Amino acid sequence: MARRKKIYEGKAKVLYEGPEPGTLVQYFKDDATAFNAEKRDVIEGKGVLNNRLSEFFMTGLSGIGVPTHFIKRLNMREQLIRAVEIIPLEVIVRNYAAGSMAKRLGLDEGLELPRPIVEFSYKDDALGDPLVPEEYIIAFGWASQQDLDDMIALALRVNDFMSGVMYGVGIKLIDFKIEIGRLYEGDFQRLVIADEISPDSCRLWDMETGEKLDKDVFRRDLGNLTDAYTEVARRLGVMPQNATQMVKPTLIN
Ligand code: 5GP
Repeated sequence: MARRKKIYEGKAKVLYEGPEPGTLVQYFKDDATAFNAEKRDVIEGKGVLNNRLSEFFMTGLSGIGVPTHFIKRLNMREQLIRAVEIIPLEVIVRNYAAGSMAKRLGLDEGLELPRPIVEFSYKDDALGDPLVPEEYIIAFGWASQQDLDDMIALALRVNDFMSGVMYGVGIKLIDFKIEIGRLYEGDFQRLVIADEISPDSCRLWDMETGEKLDKDVFRRDLGNLTDAYTEVARRLGVMPQNATQMVKPTLIN
């Protein structure tokens, strides 16, 4: 295969030029990082699982009319996506207190919040993705008030979809992070869900046991990350139960 032009390399994914203008190929790596890349490892099979899981969630979202950047999965580790201009914000939705919110407010992890809470962090690794109020977002021109309203509405729709899907397989959606991009179509732009939706960017707890099935397994050294993600994929019917292929992925380059 001809070598493709690399557009961007992040901690867990690489973006290559796509086959047509306005498209990109998103490649899922096995690299896992946490605490602003202070902790890092290579978790065999993680990229394959996240490629599949992100496809599953993005396809489901499209199915209920939530626009995403996803076009199609190409192979074990790659998907074709629309090129968007990423808004430099992490949009976080929380249903239960956990992680940075629990720490900041001194709350017990797992405390049910009175309603889903949407918050924004400014995407800047050097600053540790600081939480920012809406006032900053508008004042610094990262997004307009209309964008913010649309982003909150999109995030809450994603939350309803993801919570329902997870509830159906005995998993509580504690919180998650999404990224949103601007898709330009002629003179118009619309906001779409971009990046990925996977256990890397969600907190997922087993409803019965409270077992963590997300990246906290890696962050907090709670066990085998691939086993946790495989369990999520198995419950959702995304991967065959006999997933030897997945554990030993074919590297594509
Ligand atoms: P917290 O602010 O509690 O650390 O994270 C809230 C939620 O957003 C968690 O589900 C966490 O996985 C996700 N999240 C926050 N920041 C990042 C990030 O930089 N990368 C990824 N993959 N997920 C994040």
